Amino acid sequence: YLTRLRQSEPHLRSFLHLPDDDAVLAQAAHLDGKISAGDELGPLAGVFVAVKDNICTIDMPSTAGSRILEGYRPPFDATAVKRVKELGGIVVGKTNLDEFGMGSTTEGSAFQVTANPWDVSRVPGGSSGGSAAAVSARQCVVSLGSDTGGSVRQPASFCGVVGLKPTYGRVSRFGLMAYASSLDAIGCFGSSVADTGILLSAIAGHDRFDATSSKQDVPNFLSHFVSASSLESKPLKGLRVGLIRETIGDGVDAGVISAIRAAALHLEELGCSVNEVSLPSFSLGLPAYYVLAVSESSSNLSRYDGIRYGGQVYADELDSLYGGSRSKGFGSEVKMRILMGTYALSAGYYDAYYKRAQQVRTIIRNSFKEALNQNDILISPAAPSAAYKIGEKKNDPLAMYAGDIMTVNVNLAGLPALVLPCGFVEGGSAGLPVGLQMIGAAFDEGQLLRVGHIFE
Ligand code: GLN
Repeated sequence: YLTRLRQSEPHLRSFLHLPDDDAVLAQAAHLDGKISAGDELGPLAGVFVAVKDNICTIDMPSTAGSRILEGYRPPFDATAVKRVKELGGIVVGKTNLDEFGMGSTTEGSAFQVTANPWDVSRVPGGSSGGSAAAVSARQCVVSLGSDTGGSVRQPASFCGVVGLKPTYGRVSRFGLMAYASSLDAIGCFGSSVADTGILLSAIAGHDRFDATSSKQDVPNFLSHFVSASSLESKPLKGLRVGLIRETIGDGVDAGVISAIRAAALHLEELGCSVNEVSLPSFSLGLPAYYVLAVSESSSNLSRYDGIRYGGQVYADELDSLYGGSRSKGFGSEVKMRILMGTYALSAGYYDAYYKRAQQVRTIIRNSFKEALNQNDILISPAAPSAAYKIGEKKNDPLAMYAGDIMTVNVNLAGLPALVLPCGFVEGGSAGLPVGLQMIGAAFDEGQLLRVGHIFE
């Protein structure tokens, strides 16, 4: 892994921070001292795990892709990272992202652009583009990302890997730099559903440092794989699958739609009954998401004042110190979102925007609940297109936001969703991967992993 990592990194630029070989191997050596022959190894023992750079790591920089956090080294590990380490995982480096998770291409990083391993002239997706590219190019085995509106699932789709966004509250957010707290989730990437499930098992569960983390039992996700390996001819017999009609119509690439239809047929061959379901509120997801996400972010990002973390522009007077540090430290997309969010939350506009969006969120949540009463899982594309060219949407934020249509509803409803490769469209030299999204009921990740494992 180390050799491949060193060779591929100059072309891909997946990582913002890579410790040298000795520092990486020291983590394994440390492990070495703790185990002796015959001991049972932790499920992540010696496994290379990459971590998105908006997740705090005690011994490495954590910048969230922003100049305002340049040089910041947190004094603690995020709970998810702590658990990875406790189970023997080796943190191999910190991966690139759109600044504070705000974007869908990873071009919004203040430091570098990451390339898609399938075609280096294309974006890896985002905002967890570095974590997706790193797994896709086998620079690591699994990786952690964050998903506020699709940032694990869309890059998984663009890079042809598996991505899982857990139920809101399933994984502690302690140590994840907040973007929109009511939507944020730490998620997992792997090159197989099983790997992804193993990582989820490692990081899931209640944490007293995150009041919104759930006390729900964490089932043994791995047992789902064991039962799945009994190869009956119709292993998914009786499973009710709803294909969301609004996700396979206008505005979605024809190649993506045919890959999703082929996936639906494959599910039928495996024994599922697949029916189209309509979620009439589906298209309300994007406007509601972008009002709520920017509102929450404008509040969350107020903590970056030039005093507590990272860079500072010195001034004689406090307001100029704040203003100068924030003007210099934040990139243009982040500034735009802070302005939009502050506007949506201001007296006089609050009812028309923020409150309205909250009401829409309730409608969306209820319509998913209803659809999941009639279906065990819902399916859709993970994105309306495959990976596009670097630069293509950089100056057109609305086109970029529109690409989030498939994923944002799931965060608004707080549900778990798994994305896995299901086909290809033309592009690049070998074709470009297309991801299938499977959405489950709250806390039903086990079902998604079982179905995904059988499907792949
Ligand atoms: N692309 C979406 C946004 O820019 C989602 C990002 C995310 O999930 N972090 O807000």
